Amino acid sequence: FPSDNSDDSAITCSCSSSCSSGYYRVLIIGANGVGKTTLAKRFMTSEYMSSFEIGNDDDDDKMLSVLVDDEESTMEFIDHSEHEEDLDRFPVDAYIVAFSVHDSDSFEVAKQYLQNIRFELFSDRPIILVANKVDLVRKRQISTEEARQIAKDYDCKYIETSAALNHKVDELLVGLLKQIKLKLNPEAI
Ligand code: GDP
Repeated sequence: FPSDNSDDSAITCSCSSSCSSGYYRVLIIGANGVGKTTLAKRFMTSEYMSSFEIGNDDDDDKMLSVLVDDEESTMEFIDHSEHEEDLDRFPVDAYIVAFSVHDSDSFEVAKQYLQNIRFELFSDRPIILVANKVDLVRKRQISTEEARQIAKDYDCKYIETSAALNHKVDELLVGLLKQIKLKLNPEAI
């Protein structure tokens, strides 16, 4: 994963019901407008995708099959708007917590989510902190260093993306899958 902030040895095994099925659920959270929908749409056109299915119009959930290292996995992405209070309604295998680098308020929302996941839900599931919209270079408000430090504080992976330019979106998808598998079976990778 393109991040140097996190220590994989901190991750311990805790098999979930999805362990043997190769079916993983991922919650995408973050403030409105940070690019969650755009990221999820990009996943659907990833070069690693082997097939996908999108729910009906009033259903934002998205499923796709990804083929990485000759192994097929089905991933379901749940695009969750700002409803922190019901985070625990979603039993998931991993979280994407996204913010926009040009919006410091969205960074505060992301930090609050990290706090909630780790210290209210007490979840040790993998979290990827995603700094999106890095194409907006001149409007950038949150530095790499600042975001990386927060990722480290909450034992998350960190990646910078531009969903608009499809920059590092495949890396996010593959890195996410790797973190999920590592969590479920630390000996396997
Ligand atoms: P959501 O509310 O988090 O689902 O955000 P959306 O995916 O709907 O994106 C909000 C707006 O930001 C849309 O106009 C997107 O086109 C735009 N957007 C999303 N990702 C990026 C990005 O990486 N760079 C830029 N410049 N705009 C983006």
